[in-house]
Amino acid sequence: MASLGIPQNTIEVLQKYHFNFQKKYGQNFLIDTSVLDRIIAAAEISKEDCVLEIGPGIGTMTQYLAEAAREVVAVEIDKSLIPILKDTLSAYDNVTILNEDILKVDINALVNEHNGGRPVKVVANLPYYITTPIIMGLFEQHVPLKSITIMVQKEVADRMQVGPGTKDYGALSLAVQYYAKPEIVANVPPNCFIPRPNVGSAVIRLTRYEEPPVKVKDEKRMFALIRASFNQRRKTLVNGLGNAANLQITKEQAAQALEQMGLSPTVRGEALTLMEFAELSDRLFG
Ligand code: SAM
Repeated sequence: MASLGIPQNTIEVLQKYHFNFQKKYGQNFLIDTSVLDRIIAAAEISKEDCVLEIGPGIGTMTQYLAEAAREVVAVEIDKSLIPILKDTLSAYDNVTILNEDILKVDINALVNEHNGGRPVKVVANLPYYITTPIIMGLFEQHVPLKSITIMVQKEVADRMQVGPGTKDYGALSLAVQYYAKPEIVANVPPNCFIPRPNVGSAVIRLTRYEEPPVKVKDEKRMFALIRASFNQRRKTLVNGLGNAANLQITKEQAAQALEQMGLSPTVRGEALTLMEFAELSDRLFG
């Protein structure tokens, strides 16, 4: 099968199968060989790697992954794409296609089955409507992984990379930076996809830390604290935390902890670093 990164080949496959794009699944297929080459290079795929691909579409990137990796496991929700994938990937015997919703799959079990529980690399041109739950799911379920190299909406890539004091800084930035080192490796304009998305895209690589850069006694409660801090962006941290029923802390306790840390009682969540959130969490829940 000829490379689907070439637009004419993708169009031929879509016509052959009378494929209808499903907006609800965030289907924008890549049609740019140089972007595909850059994703594979950024993910540093070798013949030792087992790769998990989320949303293979018609198999465009899967072809590149199958060439570079030892094994590829591709999870696609849209059942109308399965016969197409069987066709476009028929030349490869190292690809497993699963017709599943990635948010419902036991990814740890998949990694056990296909890579003996050793760390995999995740590579995907993600469906943008579920970018955050997919990434958080991989991290929070402690899926053994080396890196995640993904195409996301440009704005979301920026959010993953920024630090305190910027408008994009939030719960996603902190969660990503607790688990991994983020690096934007390419900006990708809408004309590299069919159909064209109405937002700019970027490829970001998240390299998993072996140890998180900060130590915290209760990871789960720190993230609950972080979420509560950014839920009410315009409120001070003391009010935001005091109002969050699930945390069970009073405004007075929050104010006292901030004071012990030498922070102003009117500080907002967006000013705190990951290290400060970890310290605040330990003071409140430790
Ligand atoms: N990888 C292909 C490419 O680059 O051309 C397609 C990328 S497209 C942006 C996203 C793909 O994810 C679509 O094929 C879509 O059907 C699939 N998808 C959407 N939601 C999914 C889910 N919950 N689980 C698995 N795949 C999903």
